[in-house]
Amino acid sequence: MEVPGLNAAWAGFIAMVASIAVAALVAWPFAGAEWALVFLAAGLATIAAYHARNLAAFLRWLKEPRRESLPIGTGAWEEAYTTLHGLIRGRDESERTLAAALARFRAAGQALPDGVLILNSDSQIEWANPTSELHLDIDMRRDAGQGITNLLRHPDFIGYLESNDYREPLVLRRARGDASVLTLRIIEFGDEQKLLLTRDITVQEKADTMRRDFVANVSHELKTPVTVLSGFVETLSNEGMQLSDAQRRKFLGLMSDQAHRMQRLIEDLLTLSALESSARPDDEQNIDVRSLVEKLAEEARMLSGGRHKVGFSVDPDARLTGGVQELASAFSNLVSNAIRYSPEGGEIRIDWRLRDGQGVFSVEDSGIGIERRHIARLTERFYRVDNSRSRETGGTGLGLAIVKHVLTRHQASLEIRSEFGRGSTFSAVFPARRVEKIGAARAA
Ligand code: ADP
Repeated sequence: MEVPGLNAAWAGFIAMVASIAVAALVAWPFAGAEWALVFLAAGLATIAAYHARNLAAFLRWLKEPRRESLPIGTGAWEEAYTTLHGLIRGRDESERTLAAALARFRAAGQALPDGVLILNSDSQIEWANPTSELHLDIDMRRDAGQGITNLLRHPDFIGYLESNDYREPLVLRRARGDASVLTLRIIEFGDEQKLLLTRDITVQEKADTMRRDFVANVSHELKTPVTVLSGFVETLSNEGMQLSDAQRRKFLGLMSDQAHRMQRLIEDLLTLSALESSARPDDEQNIDVRSLVEKLAEEARMLSGGRHKVGFSVDPDARLTGGVQELASAFSNLVSNAIRYSPEGGEIRIDWRLRDGQGVFSVEDSGIGIERRHIARLTERFYRVDNSRSRETGGTGLGLAIVKHVLTRHQASLEIRSEFGRGSTFSAVFPARRVEKIGAARAA
């Protein structure tokens, strides 16, 4: 029977003491008072010994409290152990859930493309994901527990950390001593802890710089013709200025040159922008390279005006798959360069052939050649070896940039071989899957 307000321990204890007391009282008339008292004392001592033994076992267990080694008790001890068993099982389960959540959090942290680093209240590193290790050039096996300012000594970062104003991220250039650019953002949380988020923006920065340079270059390229044109317009419209017919013709000729220069530049800019706005050529087809090369040779002869010898050869068995319009414009750029950078009497050869299964379109000239140090930069927009020669011959500085772009869209590469003073060969090398060997098909 359960008495309200009494728990099992008290109830059991009272029941045992009461039973012993009753037994002693019953024994009193037969065995006498002394034996009854001895019996009572022995009973109480047994109860005390029972609890002492259980307590000792419990204390022993507490030194290494594992669920499997929990002692087995009786009575109130049994109930206590059962409750304890339930508690431990609950704790184990929540530990397991917590460990799984932590593992998931870590896995997410590892997979994040951004760097995440946790700092304690003394700005020492508690945890960092691999991206953060990479961004900040740290190694958690070695640097965990280190003060962040011992490792990241950039004065801008130290200033940012100490400012306690983290509303804006910090842009850190040369954070690792290289050309990389990082943004860092601190977020405060918990007990004066900080989350340091890092993002590598080197590529975006480079793209921004290129865009700025490009706009500056285009403006610069347009400035001269516009200035010249407006100067002539002013001169021609000045009624007080008496101009002879010859002078007027000369001015109009110069104006026309500048207008054409602007037109070529704008056409090349539009070509570049069209190339950038679509991922692949939209008129891919099997190209009849022979007739294309014949047209290019004809174009070269016209451009040369008889000042150069133009020859060509075409492997009749090799066909090329690609965007016919853009490839024609890229090849035509190479041919026009060969003419423009070859002095009178020079020789130009246009070739289409197979090389180890790859298709190679090349334009060889016996022109002025290019010094080795310039070669890697020739396909940059507006890069010219000799500014005045390029402009005099109607160059925009964008021709090879367009060629490179077109070839990249065809998974092809541009090979440049040149000897200063002797001539150059520009070759577009197409992967085997873009080249069809008709001879092989015929034989089969
Ligand atoms: P440009 O309009 O100035 O010719 P390109 O992009 O076509 O611009 O070429 C970049 C530069 O590469 C040229 O200014 C020139 O200095 C050099 N170059 C290109 N083709 C040749 C060539 N066949 N021989 C010598 N130099 C060349």
